[in-house]
Amino acid sequence: MNYTRFLTAVSAARRPSPIRLLTELQQRCPPSLISLAGGAPNPNTFPFQSASITVKNGETITFNETTMKRALQYSASNGIPELLTWMKNLQKSLHKPPTASYSPEKGQMDMCVTTGSQEGLCKVFEMLVNPGDNVLLDAPTYSGTLAALQPIGCNLINVPSDQHGMIPAALKEVLSRWDPSEVHKPGSTAPKILYTIPNGGNPTGASMTAQRKKEIYELARQYDMLIIEDDPYYFLQFDKPWAPTFLSMDVDGRIIRTDSFSKILSSGLRIGFVTGPKPLVDRVVLHIQASTMHTSTFTQLMVSQLLHSWGQDGFLQHIDRFVTFYVAEWHSPSAGMFLWIKLKGIADTQQLIMEKAFEKEVLLVPGGVFMINSSDPCPYVRAAFSLSTPEQIDEVHI
Ligand code: PMP
Ligand code: PLP
Repeated sequence: MNYTRFLTAVSAARRPSPIRLLTELQQRCPPSLISLAGGAPNPNTFPFQSASITVKNGETITFNETTMKRALQYSASNGIPELLTWMKNLQKSLHKPPTASYSPEKGQMDMCVTTGSQEGLCKVFEMLVNPGDNVLLDAPTYSGTLAALQPIGCNLINVPSDQHGMIPAALKEVLSRWDPSEVHKPGSTAPKILYTIPNGGNPTGASMTAQRKKEIYELARQYDMLIIEDDPYYFLQFDKPWAPTFLSMDVDGRIIRTDSFSKILSSGLRIGFVTGPKPLVDRVVLHIQASTMHTSTFTQLMVSQLLHSWGQDGFLQHIDRFVTFYVAEWHSPSAGMFLWIKLKGIADTQQLIMEKAFEKEVLLVPGGVFMINSSDPCPYVRAAFSLSTPEQIDEVHI
């Protein structure tokens, strides 16, 4: 793969920050190194001394004074090494990207930590999308994606989709406007990138089948496109085995995947990951060097310590526990105005509805009020679909 044709002028012009490189070098050196280099402030002057964070399973994450100094200091722009290593091992065992993706001539795969996957996405778009470019996606789509793409002034082309996501035949039809043998010619307007949310799409909830992914990947090969696989709901798949990802099929190095810890560890900590061909991940890291410098070292250390203490098995057990929490069951009503929804994993919906949903400006009725004994815990909620517009119902998904 030659990635040069995909880069915007701004991204291609990015150069490494010499001070950032020194910070990264320092991180790989023994603590005995005397550094008069990076502009690191002296952590002895910081007001925070140590930290102890209790994990719900009873474990404690402790930052002694030495760890705390590191947590409060600048760190490498691609992420702290131990978190990156953990994540790389997880990606390899979950997606088993074809070995070809790791060979240098095909663009070795790499990863970086981002401040939520939103940061990764926004930087990936800035790297790849020029004003006027044609960009393929399946709409309606995540509002954060539109917020990042629309101001660039690109031309968003909607590829029709259904409950199984983007329809390959529809993509083929959209692409038939261009001749695959001419996409490399200067001035070609053929789309270079395709964006999709492959699992539990926001807002439609659609998930793409493995067969569709294969067909879409083949079209991407034919038209030499990159695919941005924005997959924050990967771990929220209700059925096992989890669907094979685009990353797992990536023999060429044309997939850029964004992962998020927002839905599984914490949304406020802001941790996400970009996985993709090294030359592209490197460009994202150069952008990080010039913007946030890196995701909070404290946050990364906290998450890394938890993941290391859990191991991959413990992490996957955590995922299993909370997936049940999100499962809802209902029967489609054939008459009337109401949908009766069971929220599995929630013993009683009273507090959830009266506080959390109300805060989000959504009103539902907790099921308990319909029970003979209204003080018994009740996992149901009643939604009346008689008054809200389809647009309002879509918005509730947020
Ligand atoms: N501006 C100047 C002049 C600086 O020296 C620095 C940090 N050395 C920054 C901005 C960035 O600081 P921050 O760590 O708050 O992003
Ligand atoms: N991508 C999609 C499809 C989302 O729905 C969201 C959050 O709602 C994000 C990305 C952003 O996630 P993060 O919190 O990791 O930035």
